[in-house]
Amino acid sequence: MILTPRCDFCDSPLVVTRYDCRDFDSSSIAAGIIPVGPGSIEAVLASKNFWAACAECAKFVEAEDLTGLAKYAESQFDISRMSASQLVMFRVHLRGTYKLFFENRIRVSGR
Ligand SMILES: [Zn+2]
Repeated sequence: MILTPRCDFCDSPLVVTRYDCRDFDSSSIAAGIIPVGPGSIEAVLASKNFWAACAECAKFVEAEDLTGLAKYAESQFDISRMSASQLVMFRVHLRGTYKLFFENRIRVSGR
């Protein structure tokens, strides 16, 4: 099985599994908006058919731990260049995107 090279939650290259998910737009109002410009980071977390996950993120997904997943993913991104307001938006975006993931995840019994 060929997996996406990077974890869709935290960008780790150590992908171990994937989750089926309906497509959704992570830049929707529900997920929050990331300001993109000089000095700001761009986090594109679009959903395309499935989400690849590393071992760490998979644990949070299996436990349906939205807060734990968002905290862990945030710790994997370089947030040192973000202003306080950008950091707030980034957290809203991460949490909102993962919330949409949980809501749109397609559960297949026996997996
Ligand atoms: Zn991950």
